[in-house]
Amino acid sequence: MPHHRLALCGKDFINWFERYTKRTLKEFRMFSHKDKILVAVSGGKDSLALWYLLCKLGYRADALHINLGIGEYSEKSLQKSRDLSLRLKAELFVVDLSKELAGIPELQEKTVREACSICGLVKRYNFNKFAREKGYSVVATGHNLDDETSSLLSNVLNWNLKYLGRKSPVLEEEKGFVKKVKPFCKFTEKETALYALLNGIDFIEEECPFSKDASTVFYKELLNRIEEKFPGTKLRFYLEYIRKILPKFNQTDTTDLKKCKICGEPSPTDVCSFCRLKEITVR
Ligand code: SF4
Ligand code: ZN
Repeated sequence: MPHHRLALCGKDFINWFERYTKRTLKEFRMFSHKDKILVAVSGGKDSLALWYLLCKLGYRADALHINLGIGEYSEKSLQKSRDLSLRLKAELFVVDLSKELAGIPELQEKTVREACSICGLVKRYNFNKFAREKGYSVVATGHNLDDETSSLLSNVLNWNLKYLGRKSPVLEEEKGFVKKVKPFCKFTEKETALYALLNGIDFIEEECPFSKDASTVFYKELLNRIEEKFPGTKLRFYLEYIRKILPKFNQTDTTDLKKCKICGEPSPTDVCSFCRLKEITVR
């Protein structure tokens, strides 16, 4: 790991990874052992490794998986999440999008939006609603350094100030929004994958079929090329953003938030995006 000037064997890597996670949890005041945590699990390496580690550290962590209805990819993702639930003897809840609304491929056909944009909306809505209704104080997601820096780069290139103000590793609870945290935000994709492999966590290796259209894949490749030439750039880009740029935004600017008049969830408009999506789908 040239960006940390470290070279470790498997056993030491696991110890280092766990110590580093504990430090991140403390540094950003993510949660304590009193909190009831809902881990958003997709079946991929990051979220499953996060769930595994939080249980190992003795946190009260259940998980929610959203079955996105993307054919075989979704079936396998659900199976991997179920397998880990059995191993951890921890509760896994499942929301089936096809039953609740329609699967992502169908939703994409019915709207003019990109699959990933609909998917993001569906996940944000369901994780928040489920957590609040079931009394979870925190939603933890497996976003890693590559996820965070690629989206940061994309938002910088487009000067998307609204999102730049919300790329924090912690979003505090606010007006109907449950607290959201990203404990793996300082780990690269390779590090979380290695931690999962070394602990025998069986995760879905196939990419979602829609990911080939996602611009973030291109930004990740670009950042990896920069990282190869200048090790440490990704971590610096992210940490300096948190230290120097993020404080300039009022990250919890939710003054315009109201309650959706259909479902009651927080929304900047009278009817929330999820209910509008629902209206289009039933038409
Ligand atoms: Fe959803 Fe896009 Fe990720 Fe597939 S690639 S799971 S559609 S966000
Ligand atoms: Zn609504």
